[in-house]
Amino acid sequence: EVVLSVRGLTAEVDGTPILKGVNLEVRAGEIHAIMGPNGSGKSTFSKVLAGHPAYTVTGGEVIFQGQNLLELEPEERARTGVFLAFQYPLEIPGVSNLDFLRVAYNSRRKAQGLEEIDTFDFDDLIEEKLEVVKMNPAFLNRSVNEGFSGGEKKRNEILQMALLEPKLAILDETDSGLDIDALKIVAHGVNQLASPENATLLITHYQRLLDYIVPDFVHVMARGQIITSGGKELALELESRGYDWLLEDAAVEV
Ligand code: ADP
Ligand code: MG
Ligand code: MG
Repeated sequence: EVVLSVRGLTAEVDGTPILKGVNLEVRAGEIHAIMGPNGSGKSTFSKVLAGHPAYTVTGGEVIFQGQNLLELEPEERARTGVFLAFQYPLEIPGVSNLDFLRVAYNSRRKAQGLEEIDTFDFDDLIEEKLEVVKMNPAFLNRSVNEGFSGGEKKRNEILQMALLEPKLAILDETDSGLDIDALKIVAHGVNQLASPENATLLITHYQRLLDYIVPDFVHVMARGQIITSGGKELALELESRGYDWLLEDAAVEV
């Protein structure tokens, strides 16, 4: 079952082309890692998938579960089961984490044709999900991400993911200076939540993260294209050899 199919995707920001023809196919049950040098377009790719307004898609297509993702509003994308974890999660002062999570959860249920969850049932559910991320319940009563440390924001993000059970989770962990604890939180969450029914797209600068999460496929992005793909062993090769050997070999149009 193909969850995500990206073909010839091109995108620009302020008239500058960034993505120059990205092709990617992700099936249910798979974990894909996208690696690559800084500035190669990895974060742009994840933002384009999320529908970030700063980026203009100029060509190609993105099909998510048979649906044209590019014609959906960002909120609709989330409701249909795409989860996007940002490098720098939003702070929402005055909105409790619990309320935020309940609204997000009910919105997802509505899209699935289900009724709003009973408040008490939601409390039980959230308790179960807190276990996955080993998060202190006190965080539920605080404003969303306000004053959270980097690791706490990370935990909160994985909690959102655990609750929403997305069909496709996209995590951009690039150059956010993840410490080893935050890295383990992400890895544990991803591993717990990965199932034959869903798929994960892990965008990372860190070979280290792949010590904890074993991807089925590793892709290298450079200059706005995926220039090489392989299995988990490609990540190890990148760690020892860097990216230059690939850049020289690849016939990338600049
Ligand atoms: P990566 O995540 O692989 O490090 P990015 O997607 O963040 O790469 O950036 C790719 C290129 O696009 C870089 O040259 C970056 O400066 C440029 N870019 C990304 N977003 C913007 C933006 N909002 N405005 C201007 N340039 C941008
Ligand atoms: Mg970057
Ligand atoms: Mg990035």
